[in-house]
Amino acid sequence: MRIPYAPGTLRAMPLALPLDAHLHTDLSPDAAVPIDAYAALARDRGIAEIAITDHIDFVTGEPACGYADYDRRLRMVRDAAERWAGEPAIRLGLEVTYEQAVEGEIAEYLRDHAYDYVIGSVHMSRRGPFRDEEAAAAWCAGRTPREATGFYFDEVEQAIRSGLFDTIGHLDFVKRYVQPYLGPFAYEPHADIYDRLLRALVETGTALEVNASGLRQAPGEPYPAPVVVDRFRELGGRHVVAGSDAHRIEQFAFGLPDVYRAIGEAGFREVTFRRGGRGGAGRSADRVAIELSRELVADLVGEEA
Ligand SMILES: [Zn+2]
Ligand SMILES: [Zn+2]
Repeated sequence: MRIPYAPGTLRAMPLALPLDAHLHTDLSPDAAVPIDAYAALARDRGIAEIAITDHIDFVTGEPACGYADYDRRLRMVRDAAERWAGEPAIRLGLEVTYEQAVEGEIAEYLRDHAYDYVIGSVHMSRRGPFRDEEAAAAWCAGRTPREATGFYFDEVEQAIRSGLFDTIGHLDFVKRYVQPYLGPFAYEPHADIYDRLLRALVETGTALEVNASGLRQAPGEPYPAPVVVDRFRELGGRHVVAGSDAHRIEQFAFGLPDVYRAIGEAGFREVTFRRGGRGGAGRSADRVAIELSRELVADLVGEEA
């Protein structure tokens, strides 16, 4: 039985966690954290491994289009990995902004550039209905939550079906944008939407990312909520991963224990990651399972594993 969710109860706990798989440095246009600052905090707080997943956009005019080239990303991460000598381990990740219109370009880029780990995410573009508050208010007026979010979830499903990504970032990020106008976007009335996405993850062997940033934003719960993580497991999901999606240093590992608790309570005893090798369709051969220790599970779930 799941204990009713109390956001933030674990946020301050100094738990040793195995992985934060979603972090932005000063190579993202919306972040300004030097990589060594994350590494130092991870070492302090006992987070064994981190993935640097700076943004990349493929549509001209979007902020992370052409912002940092591959060599810079590679050099920054590999140099830091050497300096920190495995404590923490530091991986070269990437957060791709997925759009159906540029799927071909994304596929080509990922074929030509080796990353340890790749997140595919749908973001709110400068061309979309959530580009600013005025546009969002106009878009939500007269629409139901289902109507206001349909385009987003269709795009997410395509991102999953593309088979290009190890995981899908912040699966229901759009709930942040509709909440001020239409209220919280809950699982129950939208079970069909969520189940469609969760089944697509299961069918394609794509990991579900449980992203802590929703805990510091309007929804006050992860992307997606713990009930969705439970449902994913019920539907046969076996691969989950956790990330804080920090863009500022004080966001490092913020809410990460809550996210690990959601994962543990749903019955998962490992997170799925990749440390290089083949991406895209070949990724399943190279992904790794990182076990949650018995001690950690006991701390998170409050019982012996
Ligand atoms: Zn994102
Ligand atoms: Zn991100």
